[in-house]
Amino acid sequence: MSVSEENEEENDDETEKKYNCPECGRGFNRKFNMQTHRATHDPNRVKPFACEHPNCGSRFTRKHDLKRHINGIHKGEKVHECTVCRKPFSRKDAWKRHIATCGKM
Ligand SMILES: [Zn+2]
Ligand SMILES: [Zn+2]
Ligand SMILES: [Zn+2]
Repeated sequence: MSVSEENEEENDDETEKKYNCPECGRGFNRKFNMQTHRATHDPNRVKPFACEHPNCGSRFTRKHDLKRHINGIHKGEKVHECTVCRKPFSRKDAWKRHIATCGKM
């Protein structure tokens, strides 16, 4: 995961915005960004970015929103990550139990 792609929307001020959202008129310099934004107007949109924290299950349309959610809700929470499969656990006992079996199958 790279950090640099996160701020594209904020950093495009000096670029001409050629693509306008037909729903709200907001301008975008990339067609892809406009299409991504336009999907947020669709009430039946799929939310591809799921929070990986245990017992949360929140889903977001944009990676940016997921990141904000994690920083706002889960920041400061101690998360134990499996060193083998990177699966996060909020409880140390569950994490220990998982690590004992993970990768040994
Ligand atoms: Zn729009
Ligand atoms: Zn969450
Ligand atoms: Zn694991």
